[in-house]
Amino acid sequence: MSDTGKASKATAHYRPGTAARHCGICTMFRPPHSCISVTGVIDKADLCDYFKRKPNMPWTGKSFAAKHNKGLSGPAANKAASIASAIVRGGGDEGVAIATANKRVKNLRKRGLISDRQHEKMETKAQERREHRTGIEQSTR
Ligand code: SF4
Repeated sequence: MSDTGKASKATAHYRPGTAARHCGICTMFRPPHSCISVTGVIDKADLCDYFKRKPNMPWTGKSFAAKHNKGLSGPAANKAASIASAIVRGGGDEGVAIATANKRVKNLRKRGLISDRQHEKMETKAQERREHRTGIEQSTR
């Protein structure tokens, strides 16, 4: 450990990462290029011996919907999780992965590529949320 409290890259065996294990999904990574445990410039696609995966990453449909889009469930949530996880596994940024997955699923819905039943369910939930918000706003006036 250096006097910054961080290990050197050599001590941590810093090296190229893999799709399943890389800095971008490690709890210690601090975008864009830092780590709280290892010194120097850190690339999100690399890896070291201290790797600790962020919980729920890559995502399942349920974990993605619970944290990043409560309007999703079933096939739509699974699709979003799969898109976001693929981006992160490829070394992509977590925030970009989430936004991209949500945008793509929205487009798939618009194009009818996610079932009408699923789409209807999501629309009903969105409508309920809008009505709930409106109710809260009116009760506070
Ligand atoms: S894998 Fe190692 S270098 Fe990368 S963020 Fe995690 S602790 Fe830091």
